[in-house]
Order: sequence, then structure tokens, then C-alpha cells
Amino acid sequence: MQKALFLDRDGVVNVEKDYLYKIEDFEFIDGIVELCLYYQNKGYKIFVVTNQSGIARKYYNEDDFSALSRWMILEFKKNGVIIKKVYHCPHHPDISGICNCRKPHDGMLQAAKKEFNIDLKNSIIIGDKERDIEAGLNAGLSETYLFDESKTIKESKATKIVSKLGDIYNADTQ
Ligand SMILES: [Mg+2]
Ligand SMILES: [Zn+2]
Repeated sequence: MQKALFLDRDGVVNVEKDYLYKIEDFEFIDGIVELCLYYQNKGYKIFVVTNQSGIARKYYNEDDFSALSRWMILEFKKNGVIIKKVYHCPHHPDISGICNCRKPHDGMLQAAKKEFNIDLKNSIIIGDKERDIEAGLNAGLSETYLFDESKTIKESKATKIVSKLGDIYNADTQ
């Protein structure tokens, strides 16, 4: 079984911009490559798990999303980081009905488990919203990190709230 590092996309991999789908608007967050390399070297497979209700809302479509994902994966690759797969939820409950993939549901993590034989219990999720943490807890992950650059979030079910991505694995090495 493989351990996984699950990354939320908007607000963890890239700077949060509402309903981002254009490559020119995509800005990597400081430290994301280093964080990925750290866990990759420890044997974690890296996945992106992202809610993309902009698709249900018709702000952009599946092709736009795929094009951006391909570009993002390539940029990671240039830096030595292999993203195993990008899972996305294109739904919104008010528009397309209830689904089991939209976080806080754990459908995307369960899909990765099935497809790549992932050991969820020993996997990690990093998100910038409580629903990312809840998705991780629903899947039985033991480590969950809430990334809050603004340092405004005081309460979370996460293992730890961090304001810098580096603080996640710096704590790990102590
Ligand atoms: Mg996010
Ligand atoms: Zn969904």
C-alpha cells in the first residue's frame, strides 16, 4: 500500500483567485514545490483533490480545467515533482445535486485509494478550508493540515494550523 499526500488546489498549490481557470492567473504558492519534494522523497504519492463548482456554474468547462491541470502537472514535473493524478469535483449541490466527491465528502480520496491502492490511514491532506480537513477526517487520515496564511483561523479539527507550508514538514522533522 502507498501513502499519499493529498493537496487541495486553490489556496494550497496556487494563490486563491475566485473561479480560476486561466493559466495566466495561476500563481504557485511559496514553498509548494519544496513541500512536495520533501514528501515525495519520503515515499508519498502526490494527488490534487479539488472542488471545482465553477464547472457546474458554467464559469468554465471541463476542457478549461483539464488544460490548466495539464499545464500545472508539467510545471511540477519541471521541478522534479510527480503529481500522480488530479481529482476534481465539478458539481455544486444547488445546481447538479448532491454528490459524494465534493469535499467535505471523501469521494475523491476514496477514488485514489481504489485506483492506486492508497493507505488512507497513513496519508496526509493539506487544505485551506475546514471542508478539506473534514474530507481527510472522513477518509480516516491521521494527519491533516490547515494552511492559513492570514493567521485568522483559530479553530479547526486539523492536526495543526500553519501559516507557512514549510511549517508542516519542519514540525515533522523535530
Ligand atoms: Mg482551497
Ligand atoms: Zn462532486
